[in-house]
Amino acid sequence: MIRVIVRWLGALIAGVAVLGLAAWVALSTRLTVPPKEALENGERILQHSRVLVVVAHPDDADWWISGTLKRLVDRGAQVLLVVASDGEKGPNRIGAKDLPATRREEQKAAQAVIGYQDLRFLGLPDREVVQQPNVLETIEEIGEEFQPTLVITFDPDTPDLPYLHPDHEGIGRVVKHWLEKRTQPVAIAFFHTRRPNAAVEITDVYEAKLQALRQHRSQGLDRGGFSNRPQMAKNGSRVGVPLAETFRLETM
Ligand SMILES: [Zn+2]
Repeated sequence: MIRVIVRWLGALIAGVAVLGLAAWVALSTRLTVPPKEALENGERILQHSRVLVVVAHPDDADWWISGTLKRLVDRGAQVLLVVASDGEKGPNRIGAKDLPATRREEQKAAQAVIGYQDLRFLGLPDREVVQQPNVLETIEEIGEEFQPTLVITFDPDTPDLPYLHPDHEGIGRVVKHWLEKRTQPVAIAFFHTRRPNAAVEITDVYEAKLQALRQHRSQGLDRGGFSNRPQMAKNGSRVGVPLAETFRLETM
């Protein structure tokens, strides 16, 4: 009887271990290509000359990808950043009377640091960006007018965990939907992804990225020596450079 119980327990533990391993493989963030190839793909991102970036809120671009945007601009690329919502449901650490207007000004100040040429605000309701009836048409209209060679947006399918936000994955899905409808292929780089295949080194431009992030004062990003260097260092460690931003680069 005891032997049966021991065997049964052993099988149960083994089953849980296998399930745990499978969950870890599915949910953890890891490169899908060797580090050298990821850096080569990062170089391919930097070779683009017309780049459309679509994010959900002010500060999204500065948190995740403004180092890459700085490097693109330094190489002469035309970059248009589209911010879907004013982030009015985010924190208001400075007691701003008009938070949407303040957050737009903060993003403009960050733009001045990074240097991209164009910035558009769609003013869609925070946390309800993708429930808006015309969001796809709006993105499509802006995109077709701009004619990007590269589009950068949130990964809607395999977002980096644990931080999820309906506007982040939602806007990524809208952009993907637009590109799927298109007949002309275009490169797309998804960020906030747990399946990166591209890394852009940002070591030399990190100070600018940090300065851009610190413009978002209403979010408290200028306080207490704030920095997201540890996250960028973690990305960098995957490819053997000090600091990096990572993407999943595809052609759609
Ligand atoms: Zn956001």
